[in-house]
Amino acid sequence: MPQTTINGTFTGAGLQPEPWFIESILTLKEPTTASTQFTGEPIKKDLVIIGGGPAGLTAAIYATRAGLDCIVIEKMNPGGQVAITPVVENYPGFMRIGGKSLVDLITQQAVQYAEVHVGEYVTEAKKEPDRYYLKTNHAIYRTRGIVIATGVEPRALEAPGAQKFYGRGVSYCATCDGYFFKDGKRVIVVGGGNTAVTDALYLHNIGAKVTLVHWKDVLRAEDRLKESLKQSGIPVLWNSEVREIHGDKQVHSVKIEDKKTGQMTGMPVDGVFIAVGYVPSVEIAKQLGAELNAEGYVKVDLTTMRTSLPLVYAAGDITGGMKQIVVAVAQGSMAAMTAFEDLQEKAK
Ligand SMILES: Cc1cc2nc3c(=O)[nH]c(=O)nc-3n(C[C@H](O)[C@H](O)[C@H](O)COP(=O)(O)OP(=O)(O)OC[C@H]3O[C@@H](n4cnc5c(N)ncnc54)[C@H](O)[C@@H]3O)c2cc1C
Repeated sequence: MPQTTINGTFTGAGLQPEPWFIESILTLKEPTTASTQFTGEPIKKDLVIIGGGPAGLTAAIYATRAGLDCIVIEKMNPGGQVAITPVVENYPGFMRIGGKSLVDLITQQAVQYAEVHVGEYVTEAKKEPDRYYLKTNHAIYRTRGIVIATGVEPRALEAPGAQKFYGRGVSYCATCDGYFFKDGKRVIVVGGGNTAVTDALYLHNIGAKVTLVHWKDVLRAEDRLKESLKQSGIPVLWNSEVREIHGDKQVHSVKIEDKKTGQMTGMPVDGVFIAVGYVPSVEIAKQLGAELNAEGYVKVDLTTMRTSLPLVYAAGDITGGMKQIVVAVAQGSMAAMTAFEDLQEKAK
């Protein structure tokens, strides 16, 4: 991820919203929305929203507008996965918009309502008799309610070399690392869903020589993406699995198994982009004791976003199902409104 250093002064990590970036350049400081420093005194809130992706940011807008005192805790930078999505074409109101631009708009709106603490993460979460206790790397919160909107992380590829060469040719983020491969470098994208096809198209468009490697004979991606893939002429190795990744300082080749014949073939490559699914970020949900569903996502009532715990809600990709921005923002708003109703009810 990018890091900004000006005249030797570190001013921020990762993709920041443009206004924050400009402010940090002008002031030579990290973005001012960073957390209240740890004082030891617990900070009381009505609602703490964990995760600053579309679900968490939308929950903050709705919760504050309803009158709740809330904050968003975001361990990296706001925007979640949308910040690394090259182009979004299915968010109503925009025919075509860069993911980063879309999420910057959502962030700019959210910070008008609530503090968004960047670079802050929960280290301990537990239920107390009257509130929830959340300890972060910066502060202690005693909050009446919690919205968990921590999203998902990419699933790791289980092949020798995948971990060893991570950051040295192996990547889980085409938008972050694709630039290094732009001038005709040979890359494979592993996977067959929306993310894999989006990554393959992105890498192809910036000039990399891309091959898609998919373990089945049919893609799981949306029809429009499949069509774009066809138009692009990107070759697809069907029924194929990456078995080994080799290199010295950097990746130089992979071994791919044809699952139909069992034949192993070596392929020289400079980069391996992995998009083989997601793992939900449920550590905090687990610490609190929230029930998970059979797939390991946080179990919620989909009409209210309530979890199995009182005054704890979940929204967005962390709840499983359809992983889309419109779903995340809808669930974020529902979680906030249910929290508002439940807290009103409790106060009676
Ligand atoms: C390459 C790609 C392309 C996509 N294209 C589209 C598209 O075109 N259209 C579409 O609708 N959807 C698309 N999606 C899916 C969409 O991005 C997600 O559905 C959406 O971002 C989910 O939002 P979320 O808020 O639930 O989670 P996320 O976006 O994952 O955000 C979760 C946030 O929580 C933070 N977090 C995690 N753990 C902690 C913690 N312990 N403490 C504090 N913060 C934490 C993370 O840093 C992250 O910022 C795409 C996804 C990818 C990866």
